[in-house]
Amino acid sequence: MDCIFCKIIKGEIPSSKVYEDEEFIVIKDVNPQAPVHLLAIPKEHFASVAELNDERAVVVGKMMKKLAEIGGDNGLDDGFRIITNKGKHGCQSVSHLHLHLLGGRQLDEKMG
Ligand code: AMP
Repeated sequence: MDCIFCKIIKGEIPSSKVYEDEEFIVIKDVNPQAPVHLLAIPKEHFASVAELNDERAVVVGKMMKKLAEIGGDNGLDDGFRIITNKGKHGCQSVSHLHLHLLGGRQLDEKMG
């Protein structure tokens, strides 16, 4: 499968990995939109939140928990944002579900 995140998970493409366990990885975004911009990516390939089932939802919950912990470890005491994009209108560019953690500056009030 020609998926850039699957290649990162397999180690075929380098990444700045900040966390890994048996279910997901957390890497630095290659094109950061904020001083801290991380991606949490499940090791199982599925496209987006539209393909969640109960088992995948548990993993995504753990990913969110880990991002919040990492945010605390990175001094994001004034807050941060966790988002996931889905499809064309959501501006999803990589069709392998991932959560963005953005922080380190005042983020825009408008999210659209
Ligand atoms: P999205 O637009 O929500 O699908 O987000 C995809 C994100 O993946 C973007 O923020 C990209 O900058 C990021 N990205 C793409 N390729 C890489 C890569 N090789 N390493 C790290 N981040 C990447």
